[in-house]
Amino acid sequence: MTPAQEIARRRTFAIISHPDAGKTTLTEKFLLYGNAVHLAGSVTARKNQRATTSDWMALEKQRGISVSSTVLQFDYEGHAVNLLDTPGHKDFSEDTYRVLTAVDAALMVIDSAKGIEPQTRKLFEVCRRRGVPIFTFMNKCDRPTLDPLALLDELESVLGLEPVAVTWPLGNGPSFKGVYDIRQKHVHLFERTPGGAFRAPEKVSDLSDESLREVLDPDAYAAAVEQLEMLDGAGHQFDLAAVHAGQQTPVFFGSAVNNFGVELLLQGFLTDSIPPTPRRSVAMHSPGLPAPTEARELPVTHEKFSGFVFKIQANMDPKHRDRIAFLRVCTGKFQRDMVVTHQRTGKNVRLSSSHKLFGQERETVDEAWPGDVIGLVGHDAFGIGDTLTEDRTIAFDEIPRFAPEVFAWLTNPTPADAKKYRSGLEQLLLEGVMQSFEVRFSPPGATLLAAVGPLQFEVVQARLENEYNAKSRLAPAPFEHLRWIEPHPSLDSPETLLMPGGVHLGTDKFDHPVVLFPNDWTMDYFTEKNPDLKLHAQPIE
Ligand code: GDP
Repeated sequence: MTPAQEIARRRTFAIISHPDAGKTTLTEKFLLYGNAVHLAGSVTARKNQRATTSDWMALEKQRGISVSSTVLQFDYEGHAVNLLDTPGHKDFSEDTYRVLTAVDAALMVIDSAKGIEPQTRKLFEVCRRRGVPIFTFMNKCDRPTLDPLALLDELESVLGLEPVAVTWPLGNGPSFKGVYDIRQKHVHLFERTPGGAFRAPEKVSDLSDESLREVLDPDAYAAAVEQLEMLDGAGHQFDLAAVHAGQQTPVFFGSAVNNFGVELLLQGFLTDSIPPTPRRSVAMHSPGLPAPTEARELPVTHEKFSGFVFKIQANMDPKHRDRIAFLRVCTGKFQRDMVVTHQRTGKNVRLSSSHKLFGQERETVDEAWPGDVIGLVGHDAFGIGDTLTEDRTIAFDEIPRFAPEVFAWLTNPTPADAKKYRSGLEQLLLEGVMQSFEVRFSPPGATLLAAVGPLQFEVVQARLENEYNAKSRLAPAPFEHLRWIEPHPSLDSPETLLMPGGVHLGTDKFDHPVVLFPNDWTMDYFTEKNPDLKLHAQPIE
């Protein structure tokens, strides 16, 4: 296969959803169809034992939530699929946002009884900002659902996406017997199997097939025919360019737990989704180069290898206690043992320990192509956002930073362990596990940590203890908001600023000024009384 063919067959995506909509179940079913597991793990069992391929950290097991992002790779009908699993819990949304920088498309799973829920909406916004194509799966059609036409309307009215139905549910709740493939004009009838552990047997026929009337409840049949007529008259026309531009969303109906409509979804998604998309290299002056380079879009077929780190995962294997940097390949061919430049430090590194990951299993990767995600083990210098490349003129700046929403002071309670504590904390901050800020008037020896969700703090404490054998103490810090401030002369003489009690100035790790507020009121007051200061919810680059 030529490099262009290798790239064209790749599909790299994530599933986004509100917790409990069925993301894990759907992931398992995809693996089943991709022959990655022979028997999809029963989700009921998982809920009790919390032990599937995509659950691994001790913290996850204790809490029964997904902390880490797994990468699952499988082949299906000629496509090489990279499915990036994302933490479902909202406290880990920063991790999820970062994972979404590494995908080319997203699959949005919606509980058809509930419609669009808050977390779906938030994640959707992150995808929309990046313009990635979004496909929609209306799950749980085996339970009473909202009106399917209303579900489509909601995509348009709430998310501003043009929905185009690709499959349609036949029946609703107990009468749900299959789906209609609108483009092929085929009826797919499914048989329920216990626990949906195997591929659901299906029968394909035409909507006018007489035998359908025997299988389908007459009311359900009439409703589906009527809805399909309405769609035919008033629905949007499928437009692949609009799908790829993130304006239109192809919509599939089904039931993940029963395997109904799952294979049609997988096929439709892989066919119409996009292969790896070009990334931008930013303007920069690498110390090893005679002249600065301009910002430019890099074609995926650029021959030299490049990629960026979007996630660091530690402790995946408690026996080894190592960390893995997940890299998204953007251009060129990755080959094990190749020597690349680590752009942030300018150093050359040999990538000898590269892995494909499948839950807790690791398999050595010898080569990878644009779109693939690989895990690199044993490089403590790699941090989130770093570029690795064979071409020194390439640097990516793909990872956004987000305004933190929770704040805490971290201190070391055991003075004898000061060294372990310091080096551990430095390493975790370098990795980008969370943000920290310098604040004037901070308690002695305390570091101000800031995160999108409080569980991120627990991850830091658990990692300090497990990997560095350093205990830490966490205390809430009295802030609710943080804003970056554009440089301004009055920041040099803060006493001239009108600052309500509890408001503090500080700096981020790049020495950019920030201001911290204990509540909404003080933020509004500060903004009103200091109109010359420009505040931003995102870092100023
Ligand atoms: P996640 O939190 O989005 O990963 O959701 P899970 O995959 O863990 O599913 C949440 C719950 O919904 C579990 O109890 C699943 O068994 C159930 N579930 C998933 N898909 C379906 C479905 O198609 N129909 C029904 N009735 N339940 C489902």
